[in-house]
Amino acid sequence: MRENINEKCAVVGIFNHAEASKSAYFSLHSLQHRGQEAAGISSGDGKRLHTIKDRGLVMQVFNEQNLETLQGHMAIGHTRYSTAGNDSILDAQPVHANYDLGQLSIVHNGNLTNAQEVRDALIEEGAIFQSNMDTENLIHLIARSKQGKLKDRIIDAVKKIEGAYSLVFLSRTKMFAVRDRFGFRPLSLGRVGDGYVVASETCAFDLIGAKYIREVEPGEMLIFEKDKAPQSIKIFEPTPKHCIFEYVYFARPDSEVFGQNVYAKRKNMGMELAKEQPVEADMIIPVPDGGVPAAIGYAQESGIAYEMGIMRNHYIGRTFIEPTQEMRDLKVKMKLSPITELIKGKRLIVIDDSIVRGTTSRRIVRMLKEAGAAEVHMRISSPPTTDPCFYGVDTPNRDKLIAANMSVEDMCKYIEADSLAFLSHEALMHSVDAKGTEYCTACFTGDYIV
Ligand code: AMP
Repeated sequence: MRENINEKCAVVGIFNHAEASKSAYFSLHSLQHRGQEAAGISSGDGKRLHTIKDRGLVMQVFNEQNLETLQGHMAIGHTRYSTAGNDSILDAQPVHANYDLGQLSIVHNGNLTNAQEVRDALIEEGAIFQSNMDTENLIHLIARSKQGKLKDRIIDAVKKIEGAYSLVFLSRTKMFAVRDRFGFRPLSLGRVGDGYVVASETCAFDLIGAKYIREVEPGEMLIFEKDKAPQSIKIFEPTPKHCIFEYVYFARPDSEVFGQNVYAKRKNMGMELAKEQPVEADMIIPVPDGGVPAAIGYAQESGIAYEMGIMRNHYIGRTFIEPTQEMRDLKVKMKLSPITELIKGKRLIVIDDSIVRGTTSRRIVRMLKEAGAAEVHMRISSPPTTDPCFYGVDTPNRDKLIAANMSVEDMCKYIEADSLAFLSHEALMHSVDAKGTEYCTACFTGDYIV
């Protein structure tokens, strides 16, 4: 499979709002954790679309002057996360094109699993691609559809793609939101003033004063048109397979995703972990920021004191995307440092949300031991990550996933901890109130749906 490049991104759409592009801009700020590689906004004033996108953080891409040029009552926006090496400006979104029906902009969160086949077929028919993004397939499929209306062309196009997609489209006069039938990636609908907003996470709503209405259903298309209530079309029968990793790591704790609050789910995971994997210790410390809610849950359940034993430097980006192991090691060191006074001579339980390559845990255990910790017991609030994700979370190939190549015992030796334990699959499901099979847990089980 080709390296995935359209990964854990964020999308937002604002319709019928006097300051649409500014609202999109603020929304993207609160969704920045979903991607720091590039950002972009397209706005529409009923006559034409305006687009600005570039590499960098939302704050670096936009300023007062260029936001002024994004006029109109509707806007869509995107922040992009990508693996190293795929950082071309051409891979920033919105994807924008002129075609026979006029202008079209698209933003996408997710990953299309049949992207290469569709792309090859389109190229064979004469299509010319400008980027590496699977999202560009949609532009071509829509432009080539024989349907007369954009709505029907979008339906035509999404019936040809497979995988994970939460999409927002902007035409000259309308906005469309579409979610794949599995609902892999989140997408919520809210009301803002007389208008509407759709966004990957509801933390975007809070910042702009929008009210949460509901999720965009898996398999549903919503059409936003001036002076009309949003029209809902069921393109596919919904068969929910929500990404469990949104709850484990990815979404912001203050968001509702898949209809539930993320913080509460993460705290449950910590409580379950305390029940399943207790250990005698003097204090519990989280790996900030990801491990915080689970550590609070673990502390409340076990009665052991919770302390902030590790400080995080917030001005350093995520370590995950660095291409070499040396750079990753150095970045973890730059990012996290121990409070020596607090931990010296103590038996510690250290809580993190996940282990991927093992870099962070190994570095943290060393750092804490060097600072004088008597014992370090790693507790992870999710099961071992054994399988890569093809639906939009950037996990590396199996050969780089430590849990795919080592037993828990060997991992424990590798990270040099006194003990290591993970949350069980059953307890994870219980923590998120799973009713049946509505979650995709392929990264922990290898059970892929598409
Ligand atoms: P690693 O150091 O490779 O074992 O990665 C684990 C650390 O990265 C944990 O502290 C997680 O909070 C964080 N993490 C897990 N998944 C991801 C991801 N997809 N992108 C960025 N960071 C992640």
